Amino acid sequence: MEQILLTETILEARRTLGNALLVLAHHYQRDEIVEVADYRGDSLELSRKAAVSGARWIVFCGVHFMAETAAILAKEGQRVLIPREDAGCFLAHTIDYPTLKELWRRLAEVMDPEREVIPVAYVNTTADVKAFVGEKGGACCTSSSAEAVLRWAFSQRPRVLFVPDQYLGRNTARKLGIPEEEIVVWDPHSPPERMDTFAEARLILWRGTCNVHVRFLPEDVYRVRREHPGVRVVVHPECRPEVVELADDVGSTSYIIKTVSSSPPGSVWAVGTEERLVARLAKENPDKEVFSLAEVPPFCSYMSLTRPADLASILEGLLRGEERNGVEVPPEIREPARRALARMLDITHSG
Ligand code: SF4
Repeated sequence: MEQILLTETILEARRTLGNALLVLAHHYQRDEIVEVADYRGDSLELSRKAAVSGARWIVFCGVHFMAETAAILAKEGQRVLIPREDAGCFLAHTIDYPTLKELWRRLAEVMDPEREVIPVAYVNTTADVKAFVGEKGGACCTSSSAEAVLRWAFSQRPRVLFVPDQYLGRNTARKLGIPEEEIVVWDPHSPPERMDTFAEARLILWRGTCNVHVRFLPEDVYRVRREHPGVRVVVHPECRPEVVELADDVGSTSYIIKTVSSSPPGSVWAVGTEERLVARLAKENPDKEVFSLAEVPPFCSYMSLTRPADLASILEGLLRGEERNGVEVPPEIREPARRALARMLDITHSG
């Protein structure tokens, strides 16, 4: 009953606010949130929607770095609000601006990073990390644009620093045919005393991972193949490279949705990504068998924080003329961060 009332409150507020409001929801959000949003998508699709929207308020149902990205891309006078300010990201928390600067300083022991290294930041980073990348001439990427952005980066300078998801970096590097011996990993918790091993590297990876996608293991692939003959395994590129190697297909959340939805009736799919998305895919494809690749399906606890009551309270605030949970990015960070995001959008438009 409470759920129905909350949905009604949200829909009523949306009707009243009309085109002045845009509600965006990431694929990993709860069904009750996705169902009342204007758009659902992965981070690239949602950042594009935010960038072209004319709405006065963009309410971002996702995690904080996504709302911050929308705020960086927002036009003059647009405001981005997030229903849960505490919705972080395990992966984004693996990197911060001072530690990134420290790595850059250490690279200077064995190379000239300003001339030789171009940084690429996965969007799962805070605004100041994106700003660092923008200042150094680099670009952001999402899981769906990582290959195009990495290809572009290598056309700009001989070496690339990819932060913070080491698995997305390595999986994409494999696609581009970069040999393992040309890849090194920087562990921010245990930096090396000497930088010799970095001297020859073409690709430097930050040692970060997503707590959700790291849970899929090679044993899971062996098990589903044993238990479900004919199964197709599709995984997200934040998964371990050993898992990606064994899978039939790999791609962003949107790619996974398209691939499974367009497969013939009767297809059997084991999916290696966040559980809310997998459960929704199973529901929306009743003519197929769709289940998680893991025995205990992992879900993102940060993405789960946003409940209808949180969204309703933001919209009710707007109706009263209050902007609650506004996402602010100071101009000195916003400008260089915007350059890094704009490069990504340009590369993916032209690519
Ligand atoms: S699924 Fe992983 S990368 Fe995505 S928001 Fe959650 S912790 Fe971050």
